[in-house]
Amino acid sequence: MRLVLLGPPGAGKGTQARMLETQLGAPQVASGDLLRNAVREKSALGIEAKGFMDKGALVPDELVLKLIDARLRERDAQKGFILDGFPRTVSQAETLAKMLDARSEKLDRVIAISVPDEEIIKRISGRRTCRECGAMYHVIYDPPRNLNLCNSCNGELYQRDDDAEDTVRMRLQVYAASTRPLLEHYERLGLLSAVDGIGRTEEVSGRILSALGRGLKAAAAKGTA
Ligand code: AMP
Repeated sequence: MRLVLLGPPGAGKGTQARMLETQLGAPQVASGDLLRNAVREKSALGIEAKGFMDKGALVPDELVLKLIDARLRERDAQKGFILDGFPRTVSQAETLAKMLDARSEKLDRVIAISVPDEEIIKRISGRRTCRECGAMYHVIYDPPRNLNLCNSCNGELYQRDDDAEDTVRMRLQVYAASTRPLLEHYERLGLLSAVDGIGRTEEVSGRILSALGRGLKAAAAKGTA
């Protein structure tokens, strides 16, 4: 299954992608995680990307595409993947389609998770991320068992620099201007399913799985899958 999860920052794409990994047998490929790894490793690409990320702006396509292209060539992504945070613009979506076409592959489905802006600000300002495994918590809605330590790997939890409220507002503006037009793009291609992102994690993944079932059935009926 080749899947894209779309939605504003804080919509739960990362959490959902991780839950779906086992159910769909495909790895999560998160452009934000790939970029944060590059920043942590202080690679030339990471150093260049950091300035854009700290402001909440989009990192230039050539940098992001290099990371995504390399990741999608890895063995575990050959049979499928769950893209999270990529594509973020219509131009990235077009490049992705070309990349897949060159391998005689195509996307199966795009799921757009929707959550209102004010809910997003509440979610992100309390968000804590594990430095080691990337797992996410919320200080009020989903606190870790031990203060500031990850339940799964005991790694240190931290607040991402770009999760500060001002930067989140900037990221929401970038989403509205650059990423929201992607919804129409994928709708036109008959690939989009919209899912309400409010509710417990399991409820939202249940909605995603039923949307996937309906979407794939409809595509098969039209002969596009
Ligand atoms: P995320 O973890 O998806 O919220 O991404 C964190 C930051 O990484 C974003 O605010 C951007 O600065 C950068 N980023 C992640 N994915 C992309 C992308 N597909 N295109 C450009 N910048 C990206």
